[in-house]
Amino acid sequence: MRCRVLVVGAGPAGGDLARQLAARGEDVVLVERLPDLRRAAFSSAALPLDALDRFGLPSSVVAHRWSGWELLGPGEARRSWQGGRPQGVVLDFGALREWLVGEAQRWGARVWLGHRALACHQEADRLRTVLRRGDGSEIEVHSDWVIDATGQERSLLGDPPAAGPGSEQLVSGVGLEWLVQVPSSCWDRWSDRLAFCLGSDWVAQGYGWVFPMQAPRLKLGVCRLLDPSRDQPPLGAVLERLIERLLAPAERQAMAVLDRHGGLIRSSIRRREPHRRGRLVGLGDAVSTANLLGGEGIRHALMSSRVLAPLLLEELQGQASGSVTGPTPPTRGAMPGTAPPTRTMLGPRPLGRGVDRYPLELQRALGWRWSLSGRLARRTWLGLHGSAADRRLGSLLTSLEQERASALTDLLFGYRFERYGIRALPYLLGLR
Ligand SMILES: Cc1cc2nc3c(=O)[nH]c(=O)nc-3n(C[C@H](O)[C@H](O)[C@H](O)COP(=O)(O)OP(=O)(O)OC[C@H]3O[C@@H](n4cnc5c(N)ncnc54)[C@H](O)[C@@H]3O)c2cc1C
Repeated sequence: MRCRVLVVGAGPAGGDLARQLAARGEDVVLVERLPDLRRAAFSSAALPLDALDRFGLPSSVVAHRWSGWELLGPGEARRSWQGGRPQGVVLDFGALREWLVGEAQRWGARVWLGHRALACHQEADRLRTVLRRGDGSEIEVHSDWVIDATGQERSLLGDPPAAGPGSEQLVSGVGLEWLVQVPSSCWDRWSDRLAFCLGSDWVAQGYGWVFPMQAPRLKLGVCRLLDPSRDQPPLGAVLERLIERLLAPAERQAMAVLDRHGGLIRSSIRRREPHRRGRLVGLGDAVSTANLLGGEGIRHALMSSRVLAPLLLEELQGQASGSVTGPTPPTRGAMPGTAPPTRTMLGPRPLGRGVDRYPLELQRALGWRWSLSGRLARRTWLGLHGSAADRRLGSLLTSLEQERASALTDLLFGYRFERYGIRALPYLLGLR
């Protein structure tokens, strides 16, 4: 089987890239190991409101809108901020994946679910990727480019090297979440806010959350950074204890668990790792775009596809015309019925000049605030055990009490730490 671009992994990053390339007439195959994109919907999927517009996401993927914040802890402290108007959304992660893949298909991408990529080899100027189907049989795909969008698993690109150029240790967080149905009175209480449980008596070295979904459903979860130097209790027990503290006995009794899911987030903090090996290029979590401060990666995965798509199109145009770079072709929407261009092989050419710019452009797009928040995440969560750490966190939260809900959204989703200037600086520098 042949195609120009093989995208492996139909998460937000891979689904979005496939739809963008297909919409511009490129010959794309998108493969995903899950047979059903609605299953294993592991992500809590909270986003700020502006992300919907920025990435053109429809309301059909939105489970619920939220307009405020509640921060519980450390201990019994309870602080809330109400915005009056929506600040953000909680997505239905399965619906998001399905919509992106449906769009890619609508623009002509071929989509193969239930196919796991096993390995990818460079052969002359092509790549050969081996896929395994659900029934155990194998198939080979020959392509000009392969995109590893397999999330934190980095199935094809692999982890950053342990030593030498680009070496950087991955910081790992693990999350566990239940999707539950609760009595309406209970749902009402949590329906207009994102709630986080902070402090080592709630979740040592991490945090818990309650996110509203379609009435009367909630997502209840916990996550923490992995710390091999400490004995960390099983996460399932931590989640059960959190639910016991948050819901009244009658609410717990009436609660039905609809789904249990979870997963890993693994990111390097400085993002110096190689983003490609020849024409095998990493996208989304596969190149550490997830931010560990709030375990947030959907926006950043989509961003990585927005950065890579034009660079890759430049390459593909260059390949087709024999020049190194070329103009971005018009969308298929603008030229109804235009067939995808066939590839003209005009001999060897230097590898990926357009795509060479990808790591730098992605770093710029994520910005310095993103980088600072990654460092802050490692320090805050790994250090969050014991009463001294709880006191430091408590005094930071106290300093935010007079703020508006929108300021918290700016801080937690926009990483606008500088806004807090002198007050936050000692905390950011690790002085309190
Ligand atoms: C518990 C939890 C809660 C989270 N909550 C939030 C949140 O509230 N907000 C937020 O923005 N982010 C959240 N995230 C992070 C966010 O979900 C990820 O950052 C985002 O999904 C990354 O997108 P991606 O497309 O890069 O990778 P993924 O979404 O991981 O997609 C990768 C895809 O590749 C497939 N795949 C893997 N290996 C292969 C293979 N060999 N062959 C074929 N297919 C393969 C996988 O099945 C998967 O579908 C959370 C993550 C976890 C674990």
